[in-house]
Amino acid sequence: MIVNLLDYTLDELAEVTGLSPSFRVKQLYHGIHSGLKVSEISVLPLETRARLEQFAVGVEIQKAFKSADGSEKYLYQLSDGNIIEGVFMPHAYGNTLCVSTQVGCRMGCAFCASGIGGLVRNLTAGEILGQVLAVNRYKGGSKDKREITNIVLMGSGEPLDNYDNVTRFFRLVSSPNGINISLRNISLSTCGITENIYRLADEGYGVTLSVSLHATTDEARQEVMPIAKKYTIAQIIEAVKYYFGKTGRRIIYEYSMIKGKNIDYFDAVRLEQITKGYPSHVNLIMLNPVKEKNLTACTAKDAERFLQRLKDRKVSATIRRSFGNDVGGACGQLRRSHLNDENKAKRVTKPANAKK
Ligand code: SAH
Repeated sequence: MIVNLLDYTLDELAEVTGLSPSFRVKQLYHGIHSGLKVSEISVLPLETRARLEQFAVGVEIQKAFKSADGSEKYLYQLSDGNIIEGVFMPHAYGNTLCVSTQVGCRMGCAFCASGIGGLVRNLTAGEILGQVLAVNRYKGGSKDKREITNIVLMGSGEPLDNYDNVTRFFRLVSSPNGINISLRNISLSTCGITENIYRLADEGYGVTLSVSLHATTDEARQEVMPIAKKYTIAQIIEAVKYYFGKTGRRIIYEYSMIKGKNIDYFDAVRLEQITKGYPSHVNLIMLNPVKEKNLTACTAKDAERFLQRLKDRKVSATIRRSFGNDVGGACGQLRRSHLNDENKAKRVTKPANAKK
């Protein structure tokens, strides 16, 4: 595989490229962390740039799809030709980018498009970071002018199934020499691989931990999430309590409401038990349609009733606003795409730096 310069720290970059003196290495690092290609870093001598052309830098935005709600979905091309997806979501407090951590996914959740076809490969740290830097630049930002303020690891892939690259990404994205996004502004969403929740807690990254729950008994959870055969809800509760103890960060649960499956009175009772005794919040999500899957969303009225039942039991919960449905960018809709796939959404732009 082609070496990707965004995979490396400043010190490593000197070694990998053989570039010197150190101020040149810094110029290179600053340039690529602003989202530039090597050829665009005009402070570097032309011959240096030419020599560095052998390396890849990050990922390239191939297409952007603008949703009516202000969000935007991107298709990114990787250096080996694989395509991944991501979503930009504008908020009053800043802009969030949803990034992918794997090409495909091997978790096989019953409601999710990302796992259709299984896992293709892990993304490297530089490919995860590359998504952030590409969109930051696309939105007019640079290393010192952040247009992306928050990141959620909620695109395709299971971040705790790619632990080393994801944590390297955390170190790179929060590096003071780079885009320097605080780990406090990053959320990692997991289907609940508990041993890596402990590891993340012990290594002190302090990102917000979101756990995809989607059911309140192990039996029901196993029906929709195969990983539930390996980790019980009791084991997850133990792990998230440990995470809270180490980081002081409130635990977020994600809960997609599925018609006839997981939103009755007893689910509310059990959710109260599951979330009791430590700071937590439940994000209720209306199940988004995925054409290959036969599960359906509940009605808005059912959702409101379930929310009220939780509130009656003093469970902190909200129905999460969904972004990007019209462009296939909502939760569970991101998939391994092919550029020539017909996408009904209008393609709005081809960024200036995209390949012809
Ligand atoms: N693998 C990680 C990251 C995926 S994040 C995880 O499991 O948490 C995406 C979130 O969207 C997860 O909570 C996932 O369970 C949820 N999701 C997947 N498919 C969905 C769908 N069709 N509708 C609503 N939410 C969905």
